[in-house]
Amino acid sequence: MKIKSVKPFILHVPVTGSQIADSTHSISHWGVVGAQIDTEDGLTGYGFTGTHAHLPSDHLITRCIETCHAPLLVGEDSRDITRLWQKLARNPALQWVGRAGITSLAHAAIDVALWDLKAKAAGQPLWKVLGGQIRDKVRAYNTDIGWLSIPDDQLVAGAVRAVEQGFTGIKIKVGSSVERDLRRLAAVRQAIGPNITLAIDGNGKWDLATCQRFCRAAEAHDVFWFEEPLWHDDVKGHAQLARATSIPVALGEQLYTTDAFAEFFAQEAIAWVQPDVTRMAGLTEVLRVCDTAHSFRLPVAAHAGDMSQVHVHLSYAHPACEVLEYIPWIKDCFTEPAEVVNGCFRLPTLPGAGTTPTPEAWARYRQPTA
Ligand code: MG
Repeated sequence: MKIKSVKPFILHVPVTGSQIADSTHSISHWGVVGAQIDTEDGLTGYGFTGTHAHLPSDHLITRCIETCHAPLLVGEDSRDITRLWQKLARNPALQWVGRAGITSLAHAAIDVALWDLKAKAAGQPLWKVLGGQIRDKVRAYNTDIGWLSIPDDQLVAGAVRAVEQGFTGIKIKVGSSVERDLRRLAAVRQAIGPNITLAIDGNGKWDLATCQRFCRAAEAHDVFWFEEPLWHDDVKGHAQLARATSIPVALGEQLYTTDAFAEFFAQEAIAWVQPDVTRMAGLTEVLRVCDTAHSFRLPVAAHAGDMSQVHVHLSYAHPACEVLEYIPWIKDCFTEPAEVVNGCFRLPTLPGAGTTPTPEAWARYRQPTA
């Protein structure tokens, strides 16, 4: 299992419709920026991070993979995942210039590719390698019906349609104006009834006072969680909000390290934990967060479930993982898409992490890596 080569790749995949928006971004494509690792005995592993498909910044990641991380990997045993994780985390070429952001995203792609290789070498789906199936079903919640760019009437119609398709959870975006978002929240809750979980996501747009004002009125609508209400790194603010409202606070998609999560745990600032293997330095680091969350008896809802493919495996195998997000933009790019059937993710069956791109995706969406 000696590593022969590490090569970057980029896919730009269109989102549902032509454009979507939350409170901070409006995008037309999702970037799948990844690493392909070949071993001398003929296996190939794939891992990737997620971006807003801005090619110049994607190139910073591919350059980091190719010129800073790859030289430390060629000739190594791909099965030594923990040792190689540590080697890249202490990469002398990068530690001084960045322990998060681009360096972490590049590390994520490589770490996931190594897990993909490990599962392929074992001839098993990744969830089996992670310790086996721990739950019968992984419940999906639908975010793709809830973008801020969707008009009110279409938002309600989309939520109703998702419930008719079998989803038992949905999430809508907030962070525009308190009045508009409360109106949309109330309309959706009324349309879907009391038995569907309804979460909201602010993407870090509002300040504490606005969040508190919003939450006082939103509590009447049985909100499952309020995700990223405040700026992503604001531990104290989230702790204050958590004490001020009965709505559970969720966060994690923009945290890069176990140390960052540890501070939120210590301050009792979050009730739902949302790490992302494409944002942190891969599955190796996310497993540490999941284990710590479990030790605090906090549930995990890995960010952007099917957008990593890996989170489906993780959620079937880890006791802390409760539900998983559904945003189906990129799933069909992979040989085993993360499919939802009757509101739950299907258990993967193919060997690997589910991260192998199809030839069609390769031909259709591939971008130059430099
Ligand atoms: Mg979010």
